[in-house]
Amino acid sequence: LKKYNYDSHELLQMLVEIQKNTDKGYIDRDTIEFISRELNIPEIRIHSIISYYDALSMESEARYVINVCNGTTCGLMGNGRIEKWVEDILGIKKGEATDDGLFSLKETPCFGACDMAPAIRIGDRIYGNITRNKIEEIIEKLSRDELYPEDKRLSTDNGSLKIITSNFDEYDGMNIIDYIGLGGYEAFNNTVKKGIEESIDEISKSGIRGRGGAQYPTGRKLSQSRAVKNERKVIVCNADEGEPGTFKDREILKRDPYKIIEGMLIASYLTDANEGFIYLREEYYWMRDRIGNAIEKSREYGWLGENIKNSGHDFDIRLVSGAGSYVCGEGFALCESLEGKPGIPRSKPPYVKQAGYLQLPTLIINVETLAAITTVMKNGSEIFTEHGTEESPGTKVVCISGKVNTPGVYEVPFGISVMEMINGLAGGVSGGRKIGFVQIGGASGGILPGSKLNIGYDYETFSNLNMGIGSGAVVVADDTDDIVEYVGTVQKFFSHESCGKCTPCREGNKQLKRILERFKESKGTKEDVENYKRIVKTMEIASLCGSGKTEAVPLKNAMEYFEDDFLKRVVTDGF
Ligand code: SF4
Repeated sequence: LKKYNYDSHELLQMLVEIQKNTDKGYIDRDTIEFISRELNIPEIRIHSIISYYDALSMESEARYVINVCNGTTCGLMGNGRIEKWVEDILGIKKGEATDDGLFSLKETPCFGACDMAPAIRIGDRIYGNITRNKIEEIIEKLSRDELYPEDKRLSTDNGSLKIITSNFDEYDGMNIIDYIGLGGYEAFNNTVKKGIEESIDEISKSGIRGRGGAQYPTGRKLSQSRAVKNERKVIVCNADEGEPGTFKDREILKRDPYKIIEGMLIASYLTDANEGFIYLREEYYWMRDRIGNAIEKSREYGWLGENIKNSGHDFDIRLVSGAGSYVCGEGFALCESLEGKPGIPRSKPPYVKQAGYLQLPTLIINVETLAAITTVMKNGSEIFTEHGTEESPGTKVVCISGKVNTPGVYEVPFGISVMEMINGLAGGVSGGRKIGFVQIGGASGGILPGSKLNIGYDYETFSNLNMGIGSGAVVVADDTDDIVEYVGTVQKFFSHESCGKCTPCREGNKQLKRILERFKESKGTKEDVENYKRIVKTMEIASLCGSGKTEAVPLKNAMEYFEDDFLKRVVTDGF
């Protein structure tokens, strides 16, 4: 509490640290009472935060909680088997703990290890490509209090372009001297030389759009943000990469954190902001030291702080942690979370850029977008315009996972065909099978059947299909995978993550869950089919935030392209 100056806006950060450092594995009653007294806030406020965020707990958990990922990719790759194996080995079911309190079994939303699916998480350690033998060995070692070696989180990028990812494998992501040797911080120097108007023009000319999923033109965003005048302005790097199937920001942050810091510095200079945050998802807590080191070194070498390199600009960055909530990727929810509250979206207007964190003008910008800004300000907008298509210049960092031979992170030029990405870069469908369907852009992205993938991966093509390219996730299912099961997984995720503030999303999700369960058991009715379409449409139109609105996209596509698969599961008796 002292570290955070007893400031109740820091409550979430305090609770995350307490949770991470307690031997008990949960935040106990005494601690809650103590915080309440010291911060002079009601206990209910602390309870509301702990119960909102998945990473916080008020209940006693086992020493080793085996978290099985229930994300879309892990679902395709057989996460259900892991639960059965653990049940066999330890004799516990989901939600239970062993009598000695050593192990418990839980399912957990996607933690960004889709290239290693099916994956589990124990504490901050991730284990991928789980087989029966592997989980037996992990459990055996932990029973003896020994740690099983962690899987390397290194994604392949063979054969792909390296523009945004130019520094991947060129240095270890740790040493600032190496980063500077690769031309690091030249982009900031160029920005200062060019001046603000010209730099924003350069970024606009490059055609960069927001890479977190919103696709808003970055040049316009910067200039709108600059137009909001206030003595105190804030920039937040959104590293809350929560879309299932997405792990590109993980790789960028891990392999080139300085490029993100430089991107934040440039954006802060262009918008006249002096305070920065990197909001890192709790699932990436294992990267905290690495990113913290990059911030520290940047400060030490004068790239953060006051009057940076005599530019007259002051800027510094704080690294803060999320606590396991998908909705916190949404602008206002993220601001609420930064203020130490449950991450619940606010109504608009005013917008985040006008009154976000602590009602201050706030610019929220995705990790990959920041890397793209640095790239363009270092090399000029031509580095983007010489690739891609006229309406979608440049490259995109994508994450291909699921039933492919080489899942991983790849940088691709816009306009490449989806089929080529899967067959050319990711080595084609595993086991020699055919593609059944593909989900593009995360759990809220569109779903296309295997027969419709000879299309360009670019904004215009996807906009014509009433979809977006979203976060860059490409989750591939083969022709043995069941679309009804798959959308059941997608819907279960959204049901869990809905913050409950607005009725269409909160209640719609409950109804959809019941309907999809009936389909899964082949007990659907024709009325269910009609209600399914009606609820999805209502959610799309009437939900308050992007989560409820976009959640409808995959569910709608599933019914559009695979209606027969649903109708096959309709009970005909009585009709
Ligand atoms: Fe919350 Fe869903 Fe409404 Fe968004 S759409 S505010 S997540 S209930």
